[in-house]
Amino acid sequence: MVAFTGAGISTECGVPDFRSPGSPWMRNKPIPFEAFMASEEARAEAWRRKFAMDDEFADASPGRGHRALARLVCLGRMQAVVTQNIDGLHQASGLDPGRVIELHGNGTYATCLQCGLRHELGLIRHAFETRRSLPRCDDCGGIVKSATISFGQPMPASMLRQAQELAANCDLFLVIGSSLVVYPAATLPLLAKHGGARLAMINGEPTGYDAIADLVVRGDIGAALEPLLWVE
Ligand code: NAD
Repeated sequence: MVAFTGAGISTECGVPDFRSPGSPWMRNKPIPFEAFMASEEARAEAWRRKFAMDDEFADASPGRGHRALARLVCLGRMQAVVTQNIDGLHQASGLDPGRVIELHGNGTYATCLQCGLRHELGLIRHAFETRRSLPRCDDCGGIVKSATISFGQPMPASMLRQAQELAANCDLFLVIGSSLVVYPAATLPLLAKHGGARLAMINGEPTGYDAIADLVVRGDIGAALEPLLWVE
């Protein structure tokens, strides 16, 4: 089994999804990667928004869905979790980080765009809020950015390749809480089907892939996955 998760798995944890009504993610026009790189003003605005959003979800902790998937992986029944999420809740649920393939990065830390060095958000935030200072890498002087993938920023090729291999070679591809409209991630269910896997979906509303799925569970994700918390 391979799971593919979207924002819907984290809504019961207090992190709203992207497209449901009233989404805080839609409040502002996104700052594309090119604009972030081009101006200090854009970078300052991106960090201001980032810290404001972090405060809204500071108390989020893994839900039933995250914990159920961690259990399946731990039991050896699930190979990996490919996720579009950036909230780090799969790792927080105890899932081995090596088994989480993050297609859109991770918002719980930052990285240097030049050398890839990891930077912690607490230090960046302190410098930003006390001195309006924008982070630069201590090692190479490169621009530091939240480790998420922005609009217009290339997705890490190695992550996408791993996700494609997992999808193409599994027996069951389980899509959980994604509207499946973001590309290229949304091509993964097709790859899984072409590779001979069965496709199962758990989502509160229809998606464009329901017609090719072998099983569609239309309901609440936490409730659907909770029984797996006790699977032996
Ligand atoms: P989406 O918002 O487009 O779709 C989420 C789907 O989950 C919707 O169809 C919604 O009806 C369903 N859903 C929500 N809560 C549910 C529940 N409790 N039970 C059943 N269904 C539920 O999300 P997406 O497809 O993941 O795309 C959003 C993009 O935005 C991703 O690329 C992701 O990186 C980013 N994002 C991430 C987070 C996060 O990390 N938690 C949150 C918002 C957005």
